[in-house]
Amino acid sequence: MTTSRHTRMLILGSGPAGLSAAIYGARAGMKPLVVQGMQPGGQLTITTDVENYPGFRDVIQGPWLMQEMQAQAEHVGAEMVWDQIVDVDLSRRPFRLTGDGGSVYTADTLIISTGAQAQWLHVEGEEALSGKGVSACATCDGFFYRGKKVVVIGGGNTAVEEALYLTNHSTDVTLIHRRDSLRAEKILQERLFAHPHIKVLWNKRVERFVGGGNPEGLVGVDLVDTVTGEASYVGIDGAFVAIGHKPSTELFAGKLPLDNGYLVVEKGGSKTAIPGVFAAGDVADQVYRQAVTAAGMGCMAALDAERFLAEAEFEAAQAAE
Ligand SMILES: Cc1cc2nc3c(=O)[nH]c(=O)nc-3n(C[C@H](O)[C@H](O)[C@H](O)COP(=O)(O)OP(=O)(O)OC[C@H]3O[C@@H](n4cnc5c(N)ncnc54)[C@H](O)[C@@H]3O)c2cc1C
Repeated sequence: MTTSRHTRMLILGSGPAGLSAAIYGARAGMKPLVVQGMQPGGQLTITTDVENYPGFRDVIQGPWLMQEMQAQAEHVGAEMVWDQIVDVDLSRRPFRLTGDGGSVYTADTLIISTGAQAQWLHVEGEEALSGKGVSACATCDGFFYRGKKVVVIGGGNTAVEEALYLTNHSTDVTLIHRRDSLRAEKILQERLFAHPHIKVLWNKRVERFVGGGNPEGLVGVDLVDTVTGEASYVGIDGAFVAIGHKPSTELFAGKLPLDNGYLVVEKGGSKTAIPGVFAAGDVADQVYRQAVTAAGMGCMAALDAERFLAEAEFEAAQAAE
């Protein structure tokens, strides 16, 4: 059955950004509605150990953290809706959004926190060994590979930055790239080539991530030379897939300014080009893409939205007098 709902604050996405916005919005009396999307809880629900979210001395589990965040948001008055938005009309306020099943949501303010998905190679063993040696985030998981042998797969800025970051933990870092040159910025390449603990394997495509041991974890990668077709194997402890991120912004193409696919927000804030529409988290962050930065941006967006609405309502009341 299709429904129609109106809210003062609609939050798109239920990752750390959306749920933090929900907590701040609810506590400001905005009665936020959170449309959770296909991945309630966001990306942290597909990882295991999280060691860098402040407030927890010991390693915590990503899905548990997100359950707690949702419970906190609901406890202070936010409402969750399990739906996926498929269409948005931002041409006038209230904004009008349509869900997968035809439900219509109208909103005085909109906070977009739809995240950015890490790109994967989609090769054998990748999914099964994800979180067991295969990762897409060196900042998140590099610490778990202290003194271990790791590889980074990719050839752009992200891959080079991840390889350089991993040298904080490992003295044996290999960058694997399927071509014979990198796309990364020159300055990053210079730092990479000069680093004594990084080597590069050129013209190699990952064919398969190989698991072993009990409990099973990553033990190596099968490679194929993209020029000669020769097969090879490298034994490793950790692999970081760094072939880019895809921000979830398809809904907003042609409606809001994008940079590299990411939503553009005002410097140091959350305002988009449309008054009343705010963005937070990875969807608007090409640089950091961490749970704690997403949560911080969610807080900023909720505060900005609350102020926007208070000003708009004050002006409307004055005009009516
Ligand atoms: C495997 C893995 C491990 C990680 N480990 C760590 C770590 O240890 N520490 C750390 O700080 N960070 C880690 N990260 C990064 C962290 O998960 C992200 O930075 C963070 O989740 C971003 O939060 P977000 O709220 O911006 O977006 P996401 O968490 O990506 O949430 C996006 C939300 O938007 C919803 N959505 C998308 N499209 C729609 C739509 N059309 N309609 C409605 N809803 C929609 C989704 O359902 C989802 O709920 C990891 C990421 C991955 C993939």
